[in-house]
Amino acid sequence: MALLDFAGAAAGFSAAGWQCEEWAPEVWRYAPRPGNAPWRLLLSVGVHGDETAPIEMLQHLLARWARAAGELRCELLLCVGNPAAVAAGRRYLEQDMNRLFSAQADRRGGEGARAALLRGVSARFLQGGVGPAIHLDLHTTIRPSLRPTFAVLPENGPEAVRQALLAWLASAGLDAALSNPLPSSTFSAWSAGLGAAACTIELGQVGRIGGNRMELLERFTAALGTLVRRPIPGPAGGGELACYRVTRELLRTSEAFRLLLPPEATQLPLLFGRRSHCRGRQGRGARADGRRVHRLSQSQGGTGPARRTAGGAGRQRDGVSWSAGPAPAAGRQE
Ligand SMILES: [Zn+2]
Repeated sequence: MALLDFAGAAAGFSAAGWQCEEWAPEVWRYAPRPGNAPWRLLLSVGVHGDETAPIEMLQHLLARWARAAGELRCELLLCVGNPAAVAAGRRYLEQDMNRLFSAQADRRGGEGARAALLRGVSARFLQGGVGPAIHLDLHTTIRPSLRPTFAVLPENGPEAVRQALLAWLASAGLDAALSNPLPSSTFSAWSAGLGAAACTIELGQVGRIGGNRMELLERFTAALGTLVRRPIPGPAGGGELACYRVTRELLRTSEAFRLLLPPEATQLPLLFGRRSHCRGRQGRGARADGRRVHRLSQSQGGTGPARRTAGGAGRQRDGVSWSAGPAPAAGRQE
């Protein structure tokens, strides 16, 4: 059984004159009549199978949009990234799919094949239409974050659309945006490489289907409903976003690698620090995703002076040390 009622929604869209096509299992494209869709939106959920809140959200939105298809102004490609993992209630079965969006990625196994399929359909959608394109890849986090909701944006998308996307993210109630100029093999980085303004969005903590606190996503859900009705991508209202930029990353080279922070680190703008630290002066911080640790700076107004590494076994001068030990709670791109 399909996770989302794509076929049922197609009946509603078709009644409004939309063209509906199943491009792959759990991947549907809905297109209004030519001329009625000045831009395109790729919306993906379930790239990690245990991150179910976005799937529930899209279930509700899809039903609503199908009933009001005449109001929508963008062509849609909607997909569940890893349906097998969702069905199993697991983050992934063999490989983390959100590390497989590069031309060199491993195509073996279920996730390798599924990622290759998604690379193909996303390229077909993003490179084949008219007008600007946006990709929102919706996730939830495993660990608590000082910034509960945030977006990670590759820097290589089209700048004007990217700015419109940032304004929309602020209006959608997200806490922070992290701009990443470094190469990545995430789904959103793949789409940015195809010319879309793209981002990975973390919408709070993991929950089981039916057990998610959907009321926490009300503002984001409403903003998404407004976005699809706009003739061009733009904000759904007011809002403020703390902006960071990745300035450095450390690659984990051993399973023994752990990130240790001093007790006072929680009072510093490490990871996603307090908003007051993000205005008017150089911010600093780090994020860890188990494989990488990024140094951050406030993005607006430049990156400021680079912080140097003291050398040795990953030890840094500012009191953050890297060695074996328990991992801290950290904001991370899931
Ligand atoms: Zn995730």
